[in-house]
Amino acid sequence: MRVTLDRMAIEDVGLNPQRLAEAIHDQLAKIDGAVPIYEIAAALDIDEVREQPLCNLEAALVTTPERDRGSILLNSRSNRQRRRFSLSHELLHFLNPTHEQISIDGFRCTRQDMRLSSGDRIADRHRRQESEANSFAIELLTPRYRLKPFLRGATDLAHVVAMAKEFDISREAAARRFVELHPEDLAAVFCKDSRFVYAACGRDFPRLSITAGEQCDLGQAVQGTISSFDEVAPDDWLHAAQPACELSAQTLWQANGRSITLLRARQSDDDGPGFDDTFERFTGGLSR
Ligand SMILES: [Zn+2]
Repeated sequence: MRVTLDRMAIEDVGLNPQRLAEAIHDQLAKIDGAVPIYEIAAALDIDEVREQPLCNLEAALVTTPERDRGSILLNSRSNRQRRRFSLSHELLHFLNPTHEQISIDGFRCTRQDMRLSSGDRIADRHRRQESEANSFAIELLTPRYRLKPFLRGATDLAHVVAMAKEFDISREAAARRFVELHPEDLAAVFCKDSRFVYAACGRDFPRLSITAGEQCDLGQAVQGTISSFDEVAPDDWLHAAQPACELSAQTLWQANGRSITLLRARQSDDDGPGFDDTFERFTGGLSR
């Protein structure tokens, strides 16, 4: 697939990560399946994408302050889905001339950097840049105009699995996207051997009390399966000083002891939002 992009027209939209990603999609023909991220990178003047085993890094970008050309290095130890996300992430560092490299060797991004989201409290410049690159990466890889089918119907991790497959992204990235845009109050909790690693929360989700390394009560692990949604005790997960809510959890058991749990919070008198609210969230914010 050959991709041609008018870079000036894209950069004319400004620095907002979502707008930049949408400007790229505006120039692409409607696509099914995975977004052709390598072809997009080439069309945006990335001369070379190399892959080699990296320690402590997921990706790096070497470019000039003018951003006329760039080359990107990806960690070949990570799977294809992660490499696609990392490439998309580096593209924002390239397209946003206000992003500053942290070392003389260029931009160097770790797996922790790739987890930062705009929901996190971002105090320093580096973390803010990383969070913006992640916003852009997911907007580019999972354009909003194609997400409606995954956010409709009953809340279920099966939609996350389907989304990951459709867009050729990791289930982790798909789960973060799902809770970001879903009309219900959701959080995606990532565990290893039932111990908490980190979580991504929807914007109205109550504050989690659980911390890294803590044991989570996730029920019986059966690799390759998705549990049903079961009620869990809010006290096990949430800070106490919040409006009372009902909390339920569903877990996807993956390989190597990894799991993704979807937490759903509902006010006791809440029937949940309708589809109008979902649509509002699609079009909300920037297009208004
Ligand atoms: Zn980065």
